[in-house]
Amino acid sequence: MSPSRVVVAAVRALAAAAGRALSPPSCAGCDEPIADDAVFCADCARTALPYTERPGAIGVRAADAGLVAFAPFAGALAEGIRRFKYSDRPDLARPLGRLLLCAARDAGVRADVVVPVPLHPRRLAERGYNQAALLAAHVADGLAASFAPRALRRVRSTAQQAQLSRDLRLLNVAGAFRARAPERVERRRVALIDDVATTGATLAACRDALLGAGAASVTYLVVAAAESGADELRSSPPSARRT
Ligand SMILES: [Zn+2]
Repeated sequence: MSPSRVVVAAVRALAAAAGRALSPPSCAGCDEPIADDAVFCADCARTALPYTERPGAIGVRAADAGLVAFAPFAGALAEGIRRFKYSDRPDLARPLGRLLLCAARDAGVRADVVVPVPLHPRRLAERGYNQAALLAAHVADGLAASFAPRALRRVRSTAQQAQLSRDLRLLNVAGAFRARAPERVERRRVALIDDVATTGATLAACRDALLGAGAASVTYLVVAAAESGADELRSSPPSARRT
């Protein structure tokens, strides 16, 4: 990856976001025009019900379970996240970030510092932005916590997680992250941000690096949770204090 490629991609992403900022608000799932304070149109909203509005659902939103998510990865929410990541739509960080902040507030999350899962440098060059960092900036603002976008770094590249089985995913990312600036997280309550939790392997590897650097606790905050991943996360409480 050359630095100039990163700059070109970042400028392109910024220009795209600026262009969309001037257009009227549109649904994060399908681009239908919507009211200013909405995220989805009425049709899409029906497929993206938050955990808080799913009576009887085993919600992965309690801070004491270590994982806070707005809703399951399905319907318009999944579509919005896909567009955010793969269709050059950094502007969707704003509506999706609002959902994430809602979930965090609803679960009573307290954080001193907000840290995004870092993106592989090659992926960053291709995409022009780290979707987790854009979300984390919104959350930090809303929670009045400090924003530490470079607190973690990948110390080795990892095969693309989506192509691997669950066991291989865990092996693939174990030890792949390091705290770049331990003083930013030491003795602090960290909110770790990603767009989606699937198996939780990446989040767990990041948590290990943060606790290793002295973080007091780590809570995962994601926009959407794949339900199987949520089960796995619940089985190993991630916010345990370091001993
Ligand atoms: Zn829609």
